[in-house]
Amino acid sequence: MNLSIATIAQQINASFEGDASSIIEAISIDSRSLQNSTNTLFFALIGPNNDAHLYLNDVMKQGVTHFVVQYIPKDCHHNVNFLVVEHVLTALQKLAAYHRRLFHFPVIGLTGSNGKTIVKEWLNFLLSPDYTIIRSPKSYNSQVGVPLSVMGIAKQHNLGIFEAGISTIHEMSNLEQIIRPTLGILTNIGSAHDEGFTSIGEKIKEKLLLFKNCELLIYAKNKTIEAFLNPSLKTFSWSFKDRSADVFIQKTSILDKTKLHIQLHSYAFTVTIPFQDDASIENAIHCLMVLLHLGYDRETIEYRMLLLYPVEMRLKIKDGINSTTIIDDSYSSDFQSLKIALDFLESQKQYKKKTVILSDIFQSGLSDEELYSKVSQLIISNKINRVIGIGATITAFKHKFVNCITYETTSAFLAHLDSDFFRNETILIKGARSFHFEDIVATLEEKTHETVLEINLNAISHNLNFFRSKLQPSTKMMVMVKAFGYGNGGFEIAKLLEHHQVDYLGVAFADEGIALKAAGIRLPIMVLNPESTSFSAIIQYQLEPEIYSLKGLRSFLKIAEQKKLHQFPIHIKIDTGMHRLGFEQESIEELIVILRATTRVKVKSILSHLATSDDLHHSAFVESQIDLFEKLSSVLIKELCITPIRHILNTSGISNFAHAQFDMVRLGIGLYGVSNDADEQKKLENVSTLKSVISQIRTIPAGDSVGYGRRFMAEKKTKIATIPIGYADGIARLWGNGVGYVSIHHQKAIILGSVCMDMLMVDVTDIVCQEGDPVIIFGESPTVSEMAEKLHTIPYEILTSISQRVKRVFYRE
Ligand SMILES: *Cc1c(COP(=O)(O)O)cnc(C)c1O
Repeated sequence: MNLSIATIAQQINASFEGDASSIIEAISIDSRSLQNSTNTLFFALIGPNNDAHLYLNDVMKQGVTHFVVQYIPKDCHHNVNFLVVEHVLTALQKLAAYHRRLFHFPVIGLTGSNGKTIVKEWLNFLLSPDYTIIRSPKSYNSQVGVPLSVMGIAKQHNLGIFEAGISTIHEMSNLEQIIRPTLGILTNIGSAHDEGFTSIGEKIKEKLLLFKNCELLIYAKNKTIEAFLNPSLKTFSWSFKDRSADVFIQKTSILDKTKLHIQLHSYAFTVTIPFQDDASIENAIHCLMVLLHLGYDRETIEYRMLLLYPVEMRLKIKDGINSTTIIDDSYSSDFQSLKIALDFLESQKQYKKKTVILSDIFQSGLSDEELYSKVSQLIISNKINRVIGIGATITAFKHKFVNCITYETTSAFLAHLDSDFFRNETILIKGARSFHFEDIVATLEEKTHETVLEINLNAISHNLNFFRSKLQPSTKMMVMVKAFGYGNGGFEIAKLLEHHQVDYLGVAFADEGIALKAAGIRLPIMVLNPESTSFSAIIQYQLEPEIYSLKGLRSFLKIAEQKKLHQFPIHIKIDTGMHRLGFEQESIEELIVILRATTRVKVKSILSHLATSDDLHHSAFVESQIDLFEKLSSVLIKELCITPIRHILNTSGISNFAHAQFDMVRLGIGLYGVSNDADEQKKLENVSTLKSVISQIRTIPAGDSVGYGRRFMAEKKTKIATIPIGYADGIARLWGNGVGYVSIHHQKAIILGSVCMDMLMVDVTDIVCQEGDPVIIFGESPTVSEMAEKLHTIPYEILTSISQRVKRVFYRE
């Protein structure tokens, strides 16, 4: 983009004084992006509990001089320009809508409950030989994601593909204004995201608003949808059942593929696609409809459709060899998604040193000269230490990069690779599909078992924001990452929380805090249970101990005296009824006497913990705890003349006793997607999925048994699959013998016989599956809560039991 401040101010109705002739080349909403620079216009978005206005000083330090704000922050003395608007998000959307109208080429707009991203990626693949396409990166389909995507349109493009996702009413018309699709695709209407709508009709009506100004809508023929369609909207429909659809399709499966018999009026032909599952078939047909509409001949359609491939949109974080972290983005290589991957690299880097392995970049529409200059600028602004380029084009442009080595092909790189070449660094692996960078990932990845715990970082962000939205704007948030982030992983989650600017982290023991600090986490960290042997280390690593007894206080003060500390932050825990740790009412007086006599420590916060916040039968008890906390903490505040942060609520406390937020809350299990309230559970997203694969399949006759102790006896011929996960991985033995199940291709497979140390066996008699197929141990189904209930325990125990030998893989969509 290339717009003057004067034009932008006018388009977003901003009041502005200053030099209006400055030219803006990029926009940003992320205060931590290293891509921010002088020509960036920064939009200070205000989220449910996060206000970018608070970080403008950091952004200014990066050289940014133009800001769209709702108010001018008090402490901003720099000489910069503010465009003041009523609502920053609306301004961003208006600017994107204006930008969109500067271009006059076809734009495909997609919405629907599932499949948007896959259809978008496939269309990009199918149409890219003939068009220079701009598309939404990843799944950027929200109120913020759509304007950011559309702002990427530039003069070289001649086709746009953008997806729109909504979760409630009144959202789509904004997105329609920004995307302005000329061709619409409704992928489907499922039950996903139903909470935001009162009825299915309301949801359909809202989604259809995207197509208000379209010349044509492509959809699967469906009476319910038709009832809401504007009769003047031209449509192009398909169906498996209804012969009145424009395109009638029959399907047959052959081996691992599906043959589609297409009938368009009198024109009939066959297309083969390399998939068999219903969702992929439906997605492929939507793409086919676009090709038909655009007038492609059947040879081209047949040829290109056969090449469709599984889409991987996720950025994954994995542990690599020689103490490295790998960020795996090995399936795409366009410029937009490179920018996103580089921001992600910065936000998740565990090691200072950053390396990027990058393939040739395709379909930019720019000349190679221009393109690689831009890529090189991006690499420099992101402070990448070295670049490994793979491909003929990037090799030809090697001179544009500093500290760069190149190889013509992936196999040439792998052939030359010395295993010592990578050490103590974060490596982004980003390449187009045709380069098969998955081979590089496989080589650099630390080898472990096939069982992995996948952690969805988007879901963590979602859950964090959900709980934030329940807080007063001034309430701070501490997030508990004890026990390795409730089993999910310490560093990566801490890093994400730092990115989201939570106020505090909480760990159980000093060594957990030390590991986080040593890995570079800068957030303050409270240690719930500091043993006196760890006090020195706590001080050395700037951790903040919770002090819960006179004995503990005295021994901490002794060390504080030796080290001549001044005002070292400590947290005072009061026992109000949990009877676990904390000062009791009787010892408060003595506590005051000791604290008055010292300046070695400073009471940073006062806290207590609720025993029954999850059970409303005990609400009277909770209120008594809250009252006692209020009373005792007030005494401390008054007698010591201090202004500490007060906090008592855990996750279910936030949900059930919101009036007791005091100055901060301590979020735990909710972050990881678990609630004990059914309604609230629906609003949280699943964070962890424990996955494995089928090692072996066999069929046994009636009368045979399975496993130790012959605890399962087959009554009929039974097909058995063995999965390499057992109680040593944290799967309770009680989950075996018909109690529990796993999911294979969305179907339940009951566990037969006893769970072994490293394996378990399941019944797959009625499931079509093969050795090597993926297995879900828990995640969407069964959920951790469902398992906990059947095992007479709580989700906390299930999550924290997953052994450390199970590899954690973090991903972002
Ligand atoms: C674990 C813990 C929390 C968080 O509890 P959740 O129920 O997981 O939200 C809060 N405070 C203290 C003192 C804790 O030990």
